Amino acid sequence: TLHAGIVGLPNVGKSTLFNAITQVGAEAANYPFCTIDPNVGMVEVPDSRLQILADMVHPKKIVSATVEFVDIAGLVKGASKGEGLGNKFLSHIREVDAIVHVVRCFDDENVIHVEGNVNPKRDIETIDLELILADMESVDKRSDRTAKLLKMGDKKAQGEVSLIERLKEAFNQGKGARSLTYTDEEREILKGFPLLTLKPVLYVANVSEEGLSAAADNPYVQQVMSIASEEGAEAVVVCAQIEAEIAELEDDEKEVFLQDLGLKESGLDQLIRVAFDLLGLMTFFTAGPMEVKAWTIYQGTKAPRAAGVIHTDFEHGFIRAEVVSYKDFVENNGLNGARDKGLVRLEGKEYVMQNGDIVHFRFNV
Ligand code: GDP
Repeated sequence: TLHAGIVGLPNVGKSTLFNAITQVGAEAANYPFCTIDPNVGMVEVPDSRLQILADMVHPKKIVSATVEFVDIAGLVKGASKGEGLGNKFLSHIREVDAIVHVVRCFDDENVIHVEGNVNPKRDIETIDLELILADMESVDKRSDRTAKLLKMGDKKAQGEVSLIERLKEAFNQGKGARSLTYTDEEREILKGFPLLTLKPVLYVANVSEEGLSAAADNPYVQQVMSIASEEGAEAVVVCAQIEAEIAELEDDEKEVFLQDLGLKESGLDQLIRVAFDLLGLMTFFTAGPMEVKAWTIYQGTKAPRAAGVIHTDFEHGFIRAEVVSYKDFVENNGLNGARDKGLVRLEGKEYVMQNGDIVHFRFNV
């Protein structure tokens, strides 16, 4: 499961969005620090292919892929120095795969802004700075360790020294670790670094209900978009309040509601989709009489590793994968039809999984 941590300054709409995610009405009160414990909300990844497969296979149940959103409240100026919920916040954010950064792009005089006015660029920089400061601290600690290893004659430490120097330089310029490019060797070293600013970021421009239709003309949104494109990050526009309303609707009602708003999909669905792409994830399916199920893997994953997502035994005892593409499966009304046409392949250890593959793994126990 993909884990995404929701961050942002107080009163930007995090809890409202998070409530939409969980559909549990936790409080979204109009003052800072109202959400103290990080909450976890799980959502299904919308995927129309699941129902189409199920209509052919008639399984007992359908299981979607999921994304877990962690509501990481309490990031304020000075968090890295322990202000607000400081370090607690930082430790939660270390555990997520991606950061969803909610930015306030709506004016509302009834909703206090901690800095007095709405200013996405400044807000983004405020949050970024806290993350950078936290990373500086991690790198400083690491730097001490590396120095000791060097003294002891550890050759591997040499590569780390230059990496650490580069990181420090970026941080001093107010840039995150994401802004640098790395060699393969450096990427290996970085696996052992708990750097927050290395995590992929997805900006959420939270606009008002009225702002939703004209979002592209909204100067606040434009600021967020331009920062995202500078950083090579992604951004989506949502109205958290509307998301909260949509979350309470049944599917068919939801469709009508979205049509009325002139939208193809909800902001939340868009958020999930973009997060998937951002992280280079994709889906494969297993389809049998018990269940039709979507599984999440990184693009480029080979068959044995994909099998391991289902069960570690499948990976260890991997023999072959019986694979049929989604298209072939659907066009031939299921596995038997596809098999009759010779479209079901037996693939070995080196097979790179393709998006939508329907797979049956063969393994030794
Ligand atoms: P958090 O502190 O970031 O979790 O912010 P909340 O979700 O608690 O939102 C703070 C206040 O802003 C609440 O009163 C929300 O109702 C309000 N709010 C959130 N999203 C929107 C929005 O899109 N438009 C408007 N006008 N108010 C919003």
